[in-house]
Amino acid sequence: MSDSFDPRTHNARPDELAGRVIAVTGASSGIGRAVALACARFGATVILVGRNARKLEAVHTEIETAGGPEPTIAVLDLEKAIASDYDQLAAAVLERFGRLDGLLHNAGILGTLSPIEHYDVPTWCRVMHVNVTAAFALTQVLLPALKRSPDASVLFTSSSVGRRGRAYWGAYAVSKFATEGFMQVFAAELENITSIRVNSLNPGRARTMMRRQAYPAEDLNSLPMPETLTGPYIALLGPASRDVTGRTFDAQS
Ligand code: NDP
Repeated sequence: MSDSFDPRTHNARPDELAGRVIAVTGASSGIGRAVALACARFGATVILVGRNARKLEAVHTEIETAGGPEPTIAVLDLEKAIASDYDQLAAAVLERFGRLDGLLHNAGILGTLSPIEHYDVPTWCRVMHVNVTAAFALTQVLLPALKRSPDASVLFTSSSVGRRGRAYWGAYAVSKFATEGFMQVFAAELENITSIRVNSLNPGRARTMMRRQAYPAEDLNSLPMPETLTGPYIALLGPASRDVTGRTFDAQS
């Protein structure tokens, strides 16, 4: 089943994620917001992780208004967080839920598009920190909670520029290659000793702030809305992908 699994063709049952606790980083906007709303629609209790409390509260309200399970907000600025912030979040998850069934690393920043020759070093460090190091730190502190789930899924949001290098995409592209590498290393470490699966998903182009920043002159109407891309995320975060690990996927053909 593992080799033929295609998250794009999965049709989720209405209660597919019922009873699951799923944390989504960057849940305040764009793809993360859309996936958080979809997770709740399919029955999950969602931990909304982000840096902007006001935006997270708006997503919280949307979920409640739609009748989804009550979500939780975890304010965490991945650029500024220190060890105790991560520890507090992990302790709160264990105390409140006793386990974690899904972790979607979705928050990210673009940095600047620039040739390597002129790439600004502090921007490089910021992008690598938010996109890679913070995801590593969050994964590490949440691992005890993931181990307590009978069927946990860790999913990384990747990008096409993290699978084949592209000129001028600088730290962003390199951070996505690192994301893919981290996914593979972590999946291999866990494969025979836990039931935790670890995969990556490239959402493809979507109408979000980041895409706008990368392509300011692009016609927004030509881009799919994030809400249309959530199906593969549900398949990879939920029971449909049980035993699928160490794999890279695309949300769009
Ligand atoms: P958005 O800019 O809309 O979303 C990025 C999210 O990351 C926001 O929720 C943002 O929070 C959050 N974030 C940024 N910095 C931090 C931080 N320091 N701490 C906590 N959260 C932070 O872009 P997308 O929805 O497009 O991006 C989501 C993911 O999809 C990214 O990993 C991106 O690389 C990937 N992707 C996107 C594509 C596209 O075409 N849109 C294509 C391929 C991959 P806030 O709301 O506060 O800004």
